[in-house]
Amino acid sequence: MLKRLLAKASPLLGSHGDWQGSCLLCHQPCDNEPLLCSWCRQALHQSQPRCRLCAALQPEEILTEVVCGRCQRRPPPWERLQVIGDYQPPYPALIPRLKYSGQILLAPLLARLLADHLDCDDRPEAIIPVPLHWWRQWRRGFNQAEEIAQALGEFTGIPCDNSLLQRIKTTPQQTTLSAGQRRRNLHGAFRIRSHQYRHVALLDDVVTTGATASQLTRLLHESGVTKVEVWAICRTLRHSK
Ligand SMILES: [Zn+2]
Ligand SMILES: [Zn+2]
Repeated sequence: MLKRLLAKASPLLGSHGDWQGSCLLCHQPCDNEPLLCSWCRQALHQSQPRCRLCAALQPEEILTEVVCGRCQRRPPPWERLQVIGDYQPPYPALIPRLKYSGQILLAPLLARLLADHLDCDDRPEAIIPVPLHWWRQWRRGFNQAEEIAQALGEFTGIPCDNSLLQRIKTTPQQTTLSAGQRRRNLHGAFRIRSHQYRHVALLDDVVTTGATASQLTRLLHESGVTKVEVWAICRTLRHSK
């Protein structure tokens, strides 16, 4: 399955297909699927307990699922946030390669890692990627969240719905804005079509302040969804203020 997706993406990798048999991160020989050597896979595997709501790392001695103090005081609107890890190496190298250098083959790799990591005993009815405005998507050529969601859908068997949400406002790049500015910036930025879902997983590549995920969770709730989970490759350490 991954090989098929990678084969689809192989034109992006040059005519020599030099991805074959070498780790996508450190380029050491490797035959694992996904193409990630055992050393890198180990480096990516963060198994410490995390807060159920914001995925902040919790002390090792906590074994049961917890909600951190911050989330107890001010819970985010979603039911649960699941990520593979924090935004630390190698993600700062991987995610921009996917987003800005068009290395679309990284999407199935990241989706495979996420699929291995997710606890989805209570399966959502659909995976909903965070939409990009059509203009930005056209310029970039793809939406990275959609690419990850699509591959994740194939790995988990949960259908991916790309058309439920639409971004109707172009918003400045969020990276330079404060949490408050992000919230104002996102006001009226999305539209939702009518649907029958009750439980969905919203998928983004990185959750930073959570402003986008919060906005979309509220929109999903207003439209009748009772349970919204947020799935992302990783989270940054910044908290929403
Ligand atoms: Zn490696
Ligand atoms: Zn928390």
